[in-house]
Amino acid sequence: MRTYDTVIVGGGIAGLACARQLRAAGHDFFLVTDRLGGRMFANGAAMHNFGATYVTSDYRHIGRFIDRGRRVRWRDVFFHDGVRFLTIWHPSNLRHRRALLRLYARLIEFRGHLNRLRALSPRVCQAELLRDDPLLGRATREPAAEFVARNGLADLNATFVAPMVNSTVFTTFEQVNTFYYLAVLMPILLPTYLADFSRTIPRLTAGLCDRIGVERVVALETSPRGGFAVTTTLRDLRARNVVVATPAHNLRDFGTGLDPSWIGTDGVREIPIVTLHVRGRRRDEYRPEKLVFLRPDEAATVLIPLEPGLDMLFAPTPEPDLAPYFEHHEVAARVRWKTAIQLSGACWRRLAPRPGLYTIGDYNICGLEDSYLTGLFAANRIVG
Ligand SMILES: Cc1cc2nc3c(=O)[nH]c(=O)nc-3n(C[C@H](O)[C@H](O)[C@H](O)COP(=O)(O)OP(=O)(O)OC[C@H]3O[C@@H](n4cnc5c(N)ncnc54)[C@H](O)[C@@H]3O)c2cc1C
Repeated sequence: MRTYDTVIVGGGIAGLACARQLRAAGHDFFLVTDRLGGRMFANGAAMHNFGATYVTSDYRHIGRFIDRGRRVRWRDVFFHDGVRFLTIWHPSNLRHRRALLRLYARLIEFRGHLNRLRALSPRVCQAELLRDDPLLGRATREPAAEFVARNGLADLNATFVAPMVNSTVFTTFEQVNTFYYLAVLMPILLPTYLADFSRTIPRLTAGLCDRIGVERVVALETSPRGGFAVTTTLRDLRARNVVVATPAHNLRDFGTGLDPSWIGTDGVREIPIVTLHVRGRRRDEYRPEKLVFLRPDEAATVLIPLEPGLDMLFAPTPEPDLAPYFEHHEVAARVRWKTAIQLSGACWRRLAPRPGLYTIGDYNICGLEDSYLTGLFAANRIVG
């Protein structure tokens, strides 16, 4: 049985960020993952993503690993106004302009606080930063519906915002807190690009290849001799520290030994979502080759053009009825995700819940940049 100072479980952006930082510090570690890249899942050079899809200009730490693809132009983004699909800039939407300005003002304020949190989060636990920032702390406690009412955003929200929230966190805006609501609306404020992962994994894993095992962890227990015992499909490992860089449900599924109260499950909800790549011809009313947000009660949440005749859709079920959107179609690929995010309430997850154990990733703040930063936090704590 091999013993390491640290074993990292999960090779998505959080686990790989941790591994890179530990390597730079000359620390002894091994990373096990059943798939490299995690939700940065794409079919290579074609830039056809299945999981994470967009990056904003505020994603400053991960910019050297993830290239920016096509920029999202708001003139190419369509929403249903009750009659037809229109961009927000259509003259008939002028009635929303005051509400839009109010939302912009709130987003600018929120962004300042979020970026301050990001600047500190490689060294301080996200949960503490969220608790101690008055604006972010309030946003975590307040349901998004109250924020919408308080700011007079009901009409704007119904047409434009709720569909965007639904296609990002895969649930209705009534289910989320104000923090999530504002965080997922950053693309309204910031330049946003299709994420190009074609060179991401080689960049993130450069120099790490002999420290990564592509295998599945089946058990994680405290060891009677101190530290942790990690059992994978190929070997038994022991470690003084374990960094669990997988979503909450994976952690629970390891089964034995790992007491759920160590990680806290309050407010964490698993939300199944399916990504479909669909070949075919969209019906004209669904604006072929444009980015179209559908209404929250529909079979899919969004239609994202990848290339002429190929769309990406997110749907809550694997076999949604796509006939309303396409004249003819075939599903070219399908990937199921079991996301687990904290939707409401202020019970944020501590990233270092007990000595030697780190639970990192997108538990608290959903997205690539913040997941990456949790990896830096764990590594910095470990190397002191
Ligand atoms: C459909 C979808 C769309 C998204 N869109 C965006 C977006 O546009 N922009 C954005 O910023 N974010 C987006 N996100 C969120 C973003 O993908 C995540 O926040 C981020 O990728 C989380 O990284 P992570 O390293 O924490 O977890 P993951 O990427 O999930 O990595 C966890 C790793 O652990 C591995 N693992 C799990 N269980 C085990 C086990 N038992 N043994 C070994 N390994 C295991 C997994 O295979 C995986 O490689 C999206 C997510 C989804 C699902």
